[in-house]
Amino acid sequence: MKKIIVAIDGYSSSGKSTMARELAARVGYIYVDSGAMYRAVTLYAMRHGMITPDKTVDTERLVAALPSIHISFAPAGADGVQHTLLNGEDVEREIRDMQVSENVSPVAVIQEVRQRLVALQQEFGEHKGIVMDGRDIGTTVFPNAELKVFVCASPEERARRRLKELSEKGENVTYQEVYDNVVERDRIDTSREVSPLRKAEDAIELDNGTMTRQEQMDWLLRQFEAAIIKS
Ligand code: C5P
Repeated sequence: MKKIIVAIDGYSSSGKSTMARELAARVGYIYVDSGAMYRAVTLYAMRHGMITPDKTVDTERLVAALPSIHISFAPAGADGVQHTLLNGEDVEREIRDMQVSENVSPVAVIQEVRQRLVALQQEFGEHKGIVMDGRDIGTTVFPNAELKVFVCASPEERARRRLKELSEKGENVTYQEVYDNVVERDRIDTSREVSPLRKAEDAIELDNGTMTRQEQMDWLLRQFEAAIIKS
């Protein structure tokens, strides 16, 4: 069967990664979490003292270090989750920490960081058969993707989901901290100069605020089937 590219963009913690991962597993496509790539670069910058406590990034040093930052993914293991590798080290858990969440959007505004990661993301999609989620997948990474979905839900709903996820992992954070982070990332992601978060003109919008996981999956599968027929 003909393979297509599926681009799923949307706001922080809108549940797009879960949808994208499940769709990829159902249809036998590769899944790439582009946010994990920005998070891994951020972790590298934090570990090398390139980000101050007030979230100022030493752009010059980070850009110079880019050739020595290698990001890859290990296939899903027993936990069913694909793990992100930074220079070969499994950093999947660490990149989801609140500290990384707080520093990632200032790193993601840097043009050279975006150029490098977008090139890598495009390589992953060379042979199609891929589902990728992020902020600029339908607008910049794969403007010709056969299926583009833009996911949204209220910041309150997204903060509740994210808090549940972090609490389940044993992170000690308050609803207010998570809510503030979601709103701040939305602000930076939508207002940055390079590839700001916005819905591609030909993307289908999904407000999943009141939908169950199963309903979202059924909806997405219908869109996928329709896109295959059209392609
Ligand atoms: O998807 P996730 O919330 O893990 O992404 C973390 C951050 O990485 C986002 O808040 C955004 O700043 C950045 N990002 C981006 N472009 C993408 C994916 C993520 O700028 N395609």
